[in-house]
Amino acid sequence: MDLIQESVDALGVDKKYAERLEHPERVIEFTFPLRKDDGDVIFLKGFRSQYNSALGPCKGGIRFHENVDRDEVVLLSKLMTFKNSLAGLPYGGGKGGVQFNPKQFSKTEIERVSKSYVRNLFKFIGPDVDIPAPDVNTNAEVMAWMVDEYNSLAGRKEFASFTGKPVDFNGLKGRGEATGRGAYFIMMSVFKRHNISKKAGIAIQGFGNVGMNLARILHENGYKVVAVSDSKGGIYNSDGLDIPALIEFKRSRKPVQEFEKGDKVSNERLLELDCDTLVPAALDNQIRRDNADKIKAKYVFEAANNPITPEADQILAENGVEVLPDILVNCGGVSASYLEWVQNREGNVYDYDAVVDKLKVVMDRAFSRVLSEKTDKISYREAAYRASIRRLAAALQHQF
Ligand code: NAD
Repeated sequence: MDLIQESVDALGVDKKYAERLEHPERVIEFTFPLRKDDGDVIFLKGFRSQYNSALGPCKGGIRFHENVDRDEVVLLSKLMTFKNSLAGLPYGGGKGGVQFNPKQFSKTEIERVSKSYVRNLFKFIGPDVDIPAPDVNTNAEVMAWMVDEYNSLAGRKEFASFTGKPVDFNGLKGRGEATGRGAYFIMMSVFKRHNISKKAGIAIQGFGNVGMNLARILHENGYKVVAVSDSKGGIYNSDGLDIPALIEFKRSRKPVQEFEKGDKVSNERLLELDCDTLVPAALDNQIRRDNADKIKAKYVFEAANNPITPEADQILAENGVEVLPDILVNCGGVSASYLEWVQNREGNVYDYDAVVDKLKVVMDRAFSRVLSEKTDKISYREAAYRASIRRLAAALQHQF
């Protein structure tokens, strides 16, 4: 049975809420012209899904990718709805994107795409309505172009209209590492609950924003990261990798597999390593029906979005593997975005230590909410969805 339906049944709340949560409130789809640097004009498709706003303005990223389409943004905005609710944020779920491959365009062309995207959506977004942030192939610079366009159209400074901005353009110190830092806080809570020692090996798939920051923070705190990988493959050392040296190495744009102090492993093999903890922090659909049985880790933390398919989730549960779900593990990113939004609305500037402290409060609260639903009979994922839907249902009851 569907996770939402199952949670609604278990909580005994009105079935209408499940029905409401199966459909987006609003999906905006548009095409717009892009004048290329050579004078040629092409047309691009843009999307924004505002999935559910019962808890507040919609919140979620914007991705620039050739695979972006209506279905993808709707699905991702649905995930954001449950994530924001679980994190206790005053937000609904949103997601958007433009269907193109930015790697084939110049910086000035990408700037024009970013500003056109905002012009097309201006009437439907804003600090009290829908607040976008970076996602795949968008970054702080793209947010700066977008907020600049938004402010020009609004005729006033509305920095809380976008989050993930550059720190010196009203962004938040610590936003860049926040998803990895948040995942670390969840790992600490789980390790404490299940008595997992610092000597236990941790494998991380992905060495980008999330994977690299998480590996760094784990290493700084004395944990043993035995494997990491990027798109070219992975590197393994049973005694623990020298993460600061590996980060330095990766900064010189070399693949992690070329790092000398470790053995090469493929991305497939990395998932199957004999270690206590596995963290998929790269892509979706990495643990599937065909490889779920080969996972030897006892704990899997979903730092990426949707890294485990529903069939694989079932197999892992049957094999006694504890899975900590994405809506919990990676909600540190949107939680830091929330802090940026509050900072902008207060006209405040938080220092880095204050951000880390506030982020810990949000992550600890999210984990407590999961524990308040958790029993031996249900998984962490089921408990997380129940906690999320309990809060959503309380807000939805005022709508119909
Ligand atoms: P990123 O682009 O910075 O890094 C992705 C990493 O995955 C890179 O190291 C890349 O080399 C690696 N990779 C690519 N293809 C791979 C493959 N086939 N096998 C193994 N590794 C591969 O992205 P990110 O921001 O770190 O995001 C990673 C995941 O976390 C995504 O699922 C994203 O949706 C999710 N997430 C990110 C944030 C955030 O704040 N960045 C927040 C929430 C969720």
